[in-house]
Amino acid sequence: MDYVYTSQDISRLIEGKLTRYFGRESGNATKHQIFRAACYVVRDILSELWLTNSDAVCSQTEKQVIYLSMEFLPGTSLRNNIFNLGLEEPFQEALGELGGNLEELYRMEPDAGLGNGGLGRLASCYLDAISSQGMFGQGMSICYEYGIFKQQIKDGRQVEQPDDWLDLGESWLITKEDEAEEVHFGGKLTEVWDDKGRMKLIHSDYTTVIAIPRDMLISGYGSGVVNTLRLWQSTSPISIDMELFAKGEYLKAMEEKHQAEIISKILYPEDAHDEGKILRMKQQYFFISASMQTLTKRHLCTYGSLDRFYEKIAVHINDTHPTMAILELMRILMDDHEYEWDDAWNIVTKTVSYTNHTVMPEALEQWPEALFAGLLPRLHSILKEINRRFNDALHDAFPANEMRRNEMAVIFNGKIRMANLCVAASHTVNGVSALHSGIIKEKLFSGFSEMTPGKFTNVTNGIAYRRWLCQANPKLSGFIEELCGPGFKRDSRELEKLLAYKEDRIVLEQLAVIKRDNKLRLAEKIKNSNGIIVNPDSIFDVQVKRLHEYKRQLLNLFHIIDLYNQIKENPNLEIQPRTFIFGAKAAAGYYMAKQIIRLACKLSEQLEKDPVIRDRIKIVFLENYSVSLSEMIMPAADLSEQISLAGTEASGTGNMKLMLNGAVTIGTMDGANVEIYNAVGKENIFLFGMSVEEVEKLKGQGLYSPWGFYQDNRSISEIIKFLAGGIPGENFGDIINSLTTGYNGEADHYFVIADFESYKNAQQEVSAAYRDTQRWGGMSLTNIAKAGVFSADRSVREYADKIWGIKSIND
Ligand SMILES: *Cc1c(COP(=O)(O)O)cnc(C)c1O
Repeated sequence: MDYVYTSQDISRLIEGKLTRYFGRESGNATKHQIFRAACYVVRDILSELWLTNSDAVCSQTEKQVIYLSMEFLPGTSLRNNIFNLGLEEPFQEALGELGGNLEELYRMEPDAGLGNGGLGRLASCYLDAISSQGMFGQGMSICYEYGIFKQQIKDGRQVEQPDDWLDLGESWLITKEDEAEEVHFGGKLTEVWDDKGRMKLIHSDYTTVIAIPRDMLISGYGSGVVNTLRLWQSTSPISIDMELFAKGEYLKAMEEKHQAEIISKILYPEDAHDEGKILRMKQQYFFISASMQTLTKRHLCTYGSLDRFYEKIAVHINDTHPTMAILELMRILMDDHEYEWDDAWNIVTKTVSYTNHTVMPEALEQWPEALFAGLLPRLHSILKEINRRFNDALHDAFPANEMRRNEMAVIFNGKIRMANLCVAASHTVNGVSALHSGIIKEKLFSGFSEMTPGKFTNVTNGIAYRRWLCQANPKLSGFIEELCGPGFKRDSRELEKLLAYKEDRIVLEQLAVIKRDNKLRLAEKIKNSNGIIVNPDSIFDVQVKRLHEYKRQLLNLFHIIDLYNQIKENPNLEIQPRTFIFGAKAAAGYYMAKQIIRLACKLSEQLEKDPVIRDRIKIVFLENYSVSLSEMIMPAADLSEQISLAGTEASGTGNMKLMLNGAVTIGTMDGANVEIYNAVGKENIFLFGMSVEEVEKLKGQGLYSPWGFYQDNRSISEIIKFLAGGIPGENFGDIINSLTTGYNGEADHYFVIADFESYKNAQQEVSAAYRDTQRWGGMSLTNIAKAGVFSADRSVREYADKIWGIKSIND
């Protein structure tokens, strides 16, 4: 790399920013000003790199991928960028000279929380990996003014606070007003015939919203390539209606501006659930239309034609939220550039690919057709034509199978099925773990895979492992470097070199010391935020992820209540002390998830009250689970809870972050747990619970009765009794109902009770294994060593080869 900066360079650059932007010197600048100045310096260095390689893109030697996602969850950027640029030392020294401290700056940065959880974090991991692999690609999304809410816990209940991240987070954004786009909503369509006798559709009386790009630069590790995440912010072309204002109608005079700005105001906090709200539809079209217009414009500018658009651009649809890209690209090609249907369709279908993230029905996006037609009349007319032609194809493929045709239709019963549209129009469709890709091929999209079997593939998810290892766990990373050399930072498979030390007592002891240090650090955080003193020698048993019934935090709580009941019955019970750590946000309107949070928090208080209990088991519910918090928790975890009902978690990525930090998994054969199991072997993981096939069978019989278990299993009946009255003043009747008789659905929909006994047994094995320090150390080491395959670098290379057709400039 030719960006070599000394600490003197850096401190001079920071001083320069302080003078020019804030009229201060380091001596009298505020901490916020120093933070901003440091960000601007990093941003300048990245901009320079970006300018050099964006020339390469402009001269169009390289194909690039456009990763469309309604969510990105970058977390913080300062440490990641400084790490990627290899500038930690000069920055550290420079800040020291300026009377500051780099760690302190890192801690000040708010998370960019423009996503709910795994889906958005995956998108950010992939951007990091695309840059690190020396590939060209851009993320495109919405510049939400408020990201995922900040969670507070008050009296055991979740309270949502707005996440005003832009205040400091804005430091990373480069606003490009000159690249703004116009997006049109509503209005009407009229047919006119031009002088060549061609029918044209004229769209009129629409409302215009302006999309302004705010770009975030995405650095890569050691590749020299910088890419961008383009975040569109909405505004109105009209700031105030002077006529209405003159009439004294002040609020109405600003109405249009408010209506436009509300589009990028806030992220919908629903994870794995489809709300079907009109504002959400507006958000989707807003960022898709702006993105597609920009892409086609740029391409046209370089090549003078869109005929071979797909040779330079791969458009990737991350879950169905950006599906409208298919329709918008058709619209641009036909209406703005006079392509015939077949030619336009040929270009579109060679351009787009789609990743499915879930098979759960409540998460599959469907739009009421009438709503869609009203907001997006032109897209609707294109959609109807796609549907008509696709129905013809279905008739050819399945002439005698109406059921099949109906389930595959894009529009059915007044509903638009976005997933079906994606599969019909994409050249490639993938799931996110081997198991999940099998399920979508054989179950969810079985008709499509019969029609076009070659369309389906798998790319198992991966994580930005340098963030969770090198940056979040510098002690472990440093130790690995001592033992195995620095190669693992570029090539994650080199982590396997660690296996040579699997039986090395001294190495295992050293790993245990590092783990204990990390646990002490988390213990300090827990003391400050929860006022609970935890024992660093207890098992740190960690379940951190969105709160969702399918993820079964309730199963974890059942195990804790069972231990509580056992200790109550026998106060001398020998048990391995445990600290159960939870972190989880619930969607604001998700009643049952909020009940489960309250149960965890109230149970935590209950355990803490009793000296016989609290020295053995305790619960810590850490509020506001986020990327930053995860960076603190993962290095301190002993046990990783991945206990979703088999067949519900598409992949999981939290499981990979924990494994990488030496936590051993207790999990079901679900999502990427299956691949973790294949990587580490049965000696190094605790598996339990029903398999997908067993779940299917139990469901198919329709005979599952949690009551049977209740009557036969004393642990379970005691747990239910505890829920009914074990915590004075608290009532968990709705949780009981959801398990026993059903609350808004069938009883125990996610088979918590059916899997309990098996889970409990696996937990006993965990305790036994933990007591054998040598054995546990070997398990932990093996997990670290085998985590390399779950690097996002590997995932992105697979996408590049199998799906996008893009290359690394470093190959
Ligand atoms: C990794 C991550 C997730 C995904 O966790 P899963 O356990 O895979 O659901 C969610 N939220 C944040 C903040 C993360 O960092």
